[in-house]
Amino acid sequence: MSWVKGLKCRECGRTYPKHALYVCEYCFGPLEVDYDYGRIKKALTRRKIEKRPKNMWRYRELLPIDKSPTDGLNSGFTPLIRAKNLAKVLGVKELYLKDDSTNHPTLSFKDRVVAVALSKAKEFGFKTVACASTGNLANSVSAQAAIANLERYIFIPADLELGKVIGTLIYQPTLIAVEGNYDQVNRLCSEIATKYKWAFVNINIRPYYAEGSKTFGYEIAEQLGWKAPKHIVVPCAGGSLITKIWKSLKEFKNIGLIDAIDTKIYAAQADGCAPIVTAIKENSEIIKPVKPHTIAKSLAIGNPADGIYAAETVKETGGWGEDVTDDEIVEAIKLLAVTEGVFTETAGGVTLGVAKKLIEQGRIPKDESIVVCITGNGLKTQEAVKDRIGRPIKIKPSIASFEEHVKK
Ligand SMILES: *Cc1c(COP(=O)(O)O)cnc(C)c1O
Ligand SMILES: [Zn+2]
Repeated sequence: MSWVKGLKCRECGRTYPKHALYVCEYCFGPLEVDYDYGRIKKALTRRKIEKRPKNMWRYRELLPIDKSPTDGLNSGFTPLIRAKNLAKVLGVKELYLKDDSTNHPTLSFKDRVVAVALSKAKEFGFKTVACASTGNLANSVSAQAAIANLERYIFIPADLELGKVIGTLIYQPTLIAVEGNYDQVNRLCSEIATKYKWAFVNINIRPYYAEGSKTFGYEIAEQLGWKAPKHIVVPCAGGSLITKIWKSLKEFKNIGLIDAIDTKIYAAQADGCAPIVTAIKENSEIIKPVKPHTIAKSLAIGNPADGIYAAETVKETGGWGEDVTDDEIVEAIKLLAVTEGVFTETAGGVTLGVAKKLIEQGRIPKDESIVVCITGNGLKTQEAVKDRIGRPIKIKPSIASFEEHVKK
């Protein structure tokens, strides 16, 4: 059964049928999925959701597919961790990590968006899927398309981390490493998408794909006992996730699943690629594209497609934006590991580094609930930390050697 009325232009409100479309032909605004909220409100209750399997499809009515989901049946419902050790270090009372570094199957939040994109691509009858990626999307499209037996073309910047490259190649896609940055990869893919009849998950399927990110926000609210937190810190690349987390809370409020929202949302970027945070700080209505230079490669999008909406989200909620240096990213990755046992990738270092800064600045008060979004896994970006964590102590296999080198 479908709960979707069609597509709707975010800028001018013109409506479109639910096809593989993504821009308004009148004003070039992005198209968004338009739901029948009246019917969803009658159909969906907390109890009903709670009885369903613990995966992202428990919010099925709020996701844009017409038939039963076919992908990501084990994705989502990742832990919301009460981070007591980390809270003590930061001097705050109530701190949580929403931990998608454990997401199935490829250990990042991208498994959510890809699950929706592939389910939808199959409904449209596509046999080939593709994407332009900063790394995690490449992993997830490769893996989930392999499971679904779809042909797959993956485009990445040539300088990606080894873990992201191997974590893509293992699923045997056609992997194309483009000599350029993500923004150049994306531009190339837009051209390819108009020429070939492929489902580019983050281009021509984007309105559907992006909706998968809402499940990250639904889960935060459900796992807090059907309550929105006071503060959420979100890493930004293209700016879609942060926009959709805000949308997820508003939807839950509108259909009566949570009572109130009093949530401030904060954007986190690396200082080597911070076009969204810069716009927030300068209170600017436009996003000035930048040339990325940061170890947080998964966030290295210099010309973010949803940048303006990300900045709007922050403004609308009364949040703020901050950026961190490469050094601060590494320190935050290490801090998260030793306090909570979570090894996050560079994007998680950005988020925690920014959260720490905002707490120190007094922008996030110490006595209110805070959720830090951990979106990816540290085993994929080992280059970032490998020279900053010491080395093993090498010994001979004897007690004498042990005592000589360790227990001196
Ligand atoms: C893609 C990605 C993001 C940001 O997503 P956007 O929706 O493009 O802002 C955050 N964290 C990780 C690990 C990612 O791979
Ligand atoms: Zn329009």
